[in-house]
Amino acid sequence: MHITKKERDYMVQIGQSTDKFPMRLSELARSLGVSEPTAFEMIERLKKAGLVETKTGMIVLTKNGHEFYRKIIMAHRTLETLLFRFGIEPDLACKECSKIDYLVDQEVIIKLFGKLNAPELCPHGKLINVT
Ligand SMILES: [Zn+2]
Repeated sequence: MHITKKERDYMVQIGQSTDKFPMRLSELARSLGVSEPTAFEMIERLKKAGLVETKTGMIVLTKNGHEFYRKIIMAHRTLETLLFRFGIEPDLACKECSKIDYLVDQEVIIKLFGKLNAPELCPHGKLINVT
């Protein structure tokens, strides 16, 4: 499935929020620096794509959405590790990888991950394979 950079940013934000507390639309809009109507429109789009659902006012990922989120995170942190090992500092690596993590084919990511000796953590100390 192909998503846009904006959709990717929403998915990552929602995926990270559900770890502890689910997010309301107003919080999501604020954290992404967009207006509530803008966030609402995007959530409606992600709902139609079957990636997101709302439960009692909270925005959460569907099972498919979570699977998608995991792939983006794995790609992101694998690419970050790669750049880091070649001398790019972690925050810059993070910024650059956010531009491409949702575009790189998963097969390529899995190969890179293997070549990097299946690291557990990214340069920021976060799990590469999130549950
Ligand atoms: Zn990062």
